[in-house]
Amino acid sequence: MAHHELRTYPLVLRNLSVLRSTKVSETMLRVTLGGEELAVRERDGLRLAAFDSAGFDDHVKLIFGSTVVEGSQPELGVLPVQQSGGIDWPVSEHRQTRDYTPRRFDPELGELDLDFVLHGDGPAAQWALGTKPGSDVWLVGPKSTTLLPDDLDWIWLVGDETALPAIARFLAERPSQAAVRAIIVVPTESSEQELNLGPQDEVLWLHGSATDRELIETAVRAQPAPAGTGYFWAAGESRTLLGLRRFARKILELPPSHINITGYWHQEEEVQPSASGQSVAAAPAEQGEAPSVPLVAGATSGHGEPASPLGWFVLRAALQLGMLDALADAPAGLSRTKLAETLGVPLPRLAVLFDQLEQDGVLLSSAVDGSAPGVESILNLGRYAEELVEDEHEREKYEGFYAQTVLAMQELGPALREGISAWSAHHGQTLRQQALQSEEIAAELVEEAERIRFVSASLLPLGLWHGLKRVTLTGPGSAALAADLQLAEPSISWSVTEEPIFLEAFRADLSQSPRHSTVDQGAQPGGPIGFSARWQPAELIVSVLELSLFSDAELLTRLQHYAEHTRRLLVIEGLRPDGLSPNGRQQLVFREVRTASGGRGPAEFGALAAQAGWTISRSEALGWDIEVFELLRA
Ligand SMILES: Cc1cc2nc3c(=O)[nH]c(=O)nc-3n(C[C@H](O)[C@H](O)[C@H](O)COP(=O)(O)OP(=O)(O)OC[C@H]3O[C@@H](n4cnc5c(N)ncnc54)[C@H](O)[C@@H]3O)c2cc1C
Repeated sequence: MAHHELRTYPLVLRNLSVLRSTKVSETMLRVTLGGEELAVRERDGLRLAAFDSAGFDDHVKLIFGSTVVEGSQPELGVLPVQQSGGIDWPVSEHRQTRDYTPRRFDPELGELDLDFVLHGDGPAAQWALGTKPGSDVWLVGPKSTTLLPDDLDWIWLVGDETALPAIARFLAERPSQAAVRAIIVVPTESSEQELNLGPQDEVLWLHGSATDRELIETAVRAQPAPAGTGYFWAAGESRTLLGLRRFARKILELPPSHINITGYWHQEEEVQPSASGQSVAAAPAEQGEAPSVPLVAGATSGHGEPASPLGWFVLRAALQLGMLDALADAPAGLSRTKLAETLGVPLPRLAVLFDQLEQDGVLLSSAVDGSAPGVESILNLGRYAEELVEDEHEREKYEGFYAQTVLAMQELGPALREGISAWSAHHGQTLRQQALQSEEIAAELVEEAERIRFVSASLLPLGLWHGLKRVTLTGPGSAALAADLQLAEPSISWSVTEEPIFLEAFRADLSQSPRHSTVDQGAQPGGPIGFSARWQPAELIVSVLELSLFSDAELLTRLQHYAEHTRRLLVIEGLRPDGLSPNGRQQLVFREVRTASGGRGPAEFGALAAQAGWTISRSEALGWDIEVFELLRA
């Protein structure tokens, strides 16, 4: 479920110049950027929006090539491609992107400040150190602002130096009147900064390492829990923050909508010298990383033999048994005997899992003094397992829709030969049929389709609903898009028509966002979005991110169905994998497994549309590899 309300911006690629750089503290350098590309402008016939950033924790993405040489442009293909309201990220092996907080943006002066932690190596920190007035940089974003709930009495802002630009901006701009408690870890006093504190605010500076989890957690836990409605925000090194989510949820008893914890950087694991003298990354078992998950890029032994899926299955079993949750609830750890008792599984049978889990670093074992070796050693969660317990998205890889897709893959070979999807072969039903019966799958499809919000602003300048009074949307992304369009174009009545199970999923999703009310009655101009399971004739139907739910045969039927209700159809879809995502290849394989549609690109879609009596009259790229196709009935 989406837990936070977002405001999205049209994505624009900009080339900005360095105006000056200023030392903010011993370890922080402020680079002030400017240039005409901060303003609205035309480029290659496209009208591009002015830079805007409303949220204290927004971020821009800086783009570097494989080498960051002052005065040189990134290599060809490194920069993304600007589209009318968004951008596409073609795959590039040389591109390096880094996220930074707009610390201050002054549209009058045309100045944007970014504060860089001088942490050592890395293209961004090195670029900042090497800049001089006139240096340039490419950046994209912000793509969105996370809106704070309106009902806050207090807010905690916790983080390391990378969080400091956002915390300082919060205090400077006050997006909420709630009393602030800031807990910030910096190396020494010389890295502290003057903050704009109000009479009710408090700041606690901690001196130490940004990865000292105990230092940060102990300080946070020592704070008295305030009365009233609160919000817990934290940013810093990703694993260092792991315990804070549980604290915010369990001790402060905050709902997910009032917790916002983001890993701003990842500490790289130590490299160990190999026998040949070269540096090699520590083995996965020592890192406590995800065990060999089928289909993760690079999960091979390096000489053509795929890594074993054993670790994935064993970890899935541990989650199914509640083993990781039981250990998370016992901070001092549990013996194997106690764990077996808690889970109600005989120890000898459970023991077959322990070896693999320990080898993968999912579980850590430590001996208790004076006890018999083996049986009485204490088990604790490894770092990846801690992440899994806290992060429902990561957990989905072993238990949810993702896992069901992985399991269906065992049928991929025969399914390809038979011309059906591996999903149908494995589950006995198409994905669409199953989604109409499974609340869980419907909810996950709706959540996946929330990415539509990053391109909703790109649709506005295209004049697609000019002169219309009423527009019907459908598909898993329809409610999220309708919610955005209703705010942007209140004179049109936006309604969603979908199967009841999707309507339920939309209701649950939108109820997280108090700014959008949802009702069952028909849509009113400027009023709430109308939701209905009944199809009616419409001037325009907009299908939102639903194509990958259909096999070719189902899609043909669906397109014929639309032809019975409208003469004009917009199909909004990502038919090509997202080049910025490291999992682009995986997306295609998953599509093939789920609906036998991995090879369905724009041309194949056009051919199916023609069979159903539609002609594609226009297509526009919206950014994030999503396109809108306009179809007219032939
Ligand atoms: C939404 C968001 C907003 C952010 N805002 C800011 C900001 O305003 N200012 C800011 O300085 N950072 C910010 N960060 C963090 C910043 O993007 C990362 O620190 C980034 O990795 C730095 O890139 P680099 O090229 O300098 O180093 P990388 O090439 O990414 O890393 C090189 C090495 O340095 C280590 N490393 C990276 N960052 C740090 C660090 N901060 N301290 C110690 N070691 C580090 C890595 O583990 C790696 O070993 C933000 C991150 C996010 C996600």
